[in-house]
Amino acid sequence: MLSEQAQADLTWLNTLALPCQAAFLLQASGQDEVNEACAFARAQKLPLLPLGGGSNLVLPPRLQAVVLQQQAEPLADLRVADSILNLRVSAGYNWSQLVTETTNAGWFGLENLALIPGTAGAAPVQNIGAYGVEIADCLQAVEGIWLKTGQRDLLPARDCRLAYRMSRFKQEWKGQFVITAIYLHLQRQAEPRLDYANLQAAVLQARQRQADQPLPSLIAEVISGLRRSKLPDPQDLPNAGSFFKNPVVALQQARHLKAEFPELPLYPLVDGCKLAAGWLIEHCGFKGQRQGAVAMHEQQALVMVNHGGASQADVLQLADRIQQAVLARFGVLLEIEPDIWPGQGFRVCP
Ligand code: FAD
Ligand code: NAP
Repeated sequence: MLSEQAQADLTWLNTLALPCQAAFLLQASGQDEVNEACAFARAQKLPLLPLGGGSNLVLPPRLQAVVLQQQAEPLADLRVADSILNLRVSAGYNWSQLVTETTNAGWFGLENLALIPGTAGAAPVQNIGAYGVEIADCLQAVEGIWLKTGQRDLLPARDCRLAYRMSRFKQEWKGQFVITAIYLHLQRQAEPRLDYANLQAAVLQARQRQADQPLPSLIAEVISGLRRSKLPDPQDLPNAGSFFKNPVVALQQARHLKAEFPELPLYPLVDGCKLAAGWLIEHCGFKGQRQGAVAMHEQQALVMVNHGGASQADVLQLADRIQQAVLARFGVLLEIEPDIWPGQGFRVCP
């Protein structure tokens, strides 16, 4: 049954731990209850905002909205062959748990995406990615409900325009579609993607120690270890992961920058060049720098942390200072990665 809480405190439902009170928080299980939640929001004349694990959000102190969280349902195994696993994963399913379960069972596909916080339903929203892999690589389809019509739909992944930390759910479909499940395609055999620094060597070493462990699970463990050693755990130091996207610039601009800053790391792409946002921020002097309750982390300049008592305004002020400094020094505009609520696309349910 749909559970409803008025004047709900979301402070502990977002990993930056920003204080936030929402008009309503609903907990739904299954598509029928998501439809009920839409009807509830319509009756209240408030927008409906889907919330997962709150790990990619910057929340305001008060939110005049109906916030919807979905409960996890059991995984549905839609196997078509011994070597292929097609899975239906409900939106509320914990992503990290999903990676552990599938890789422990020997399936390839999600191993490089180990230890990313949040839910399966949010994963296509920014096409989550890490260590050279994105969910786009194994996403088949996204199931959900159009808020405007209440219509259920199954969208093939190719229609979601998944790109670097981007999708239509973050653009023209923002605030219009609630994802209720995702469909993934995993494989028994695959070529591991180990081209990020030290990954290949670390996996080889781990393999020598634990030869019996399924390779996907071993890779997931190595990546989890790397992440634990570099990233602050939101339980200890609230944060939303990378605060800015890595900018992609034209090849010519990248060449100019490299001539001026020979140590700048460049990652060539088909249509431009990716720069490491963390490097740009660090070289503007923000690594470890604190402004009131917020700071850029002392080991990873791309991660903004809340030392306690920060508000959305504090976070956005520091972000703005960084954007201005990076623009002035390197001529590159950094784009904020987490979703700023309420923001654009914040519509009342019709
Ligand atoms: P939320 O933060 O709750 O929501 C994010 C956005 O998705 C919001 O706009 C929300 O409305 C929307 N949304 C959520 N659920 C649904 C739904 N069911 N239907 C429609 N819209 C929905 N990201 C990466 O890509 N790679 C990483 O390696 C990575 N590492 C991280 C490490 C740390 C320590 C942290 C804190 C974050 C990291 N992130 C990373 C960011 C974040 O974990 C991901 O973006 C994750 O997918 C967000 O999931 P969530 O459930 O917490 O979404
Ligand atoms: P890192 O390995 O120190 O590398 C810094 C940046 O350089 C990364 O952002 C990465 O881009 C890029 N990079 C490094 N090696 C690359 C290669 N071989 N090819 C292409 N690009 C390369 O990064 P890190 O901070 O420890 O993070 C490791 C991985 O986890 C990264 O993929 C990162 O995206 C992911 N992560 C994401 C978040 C988030 O909130 N979005 C938070 C923590 C970690 P990419 O970011 O494009 O991979």
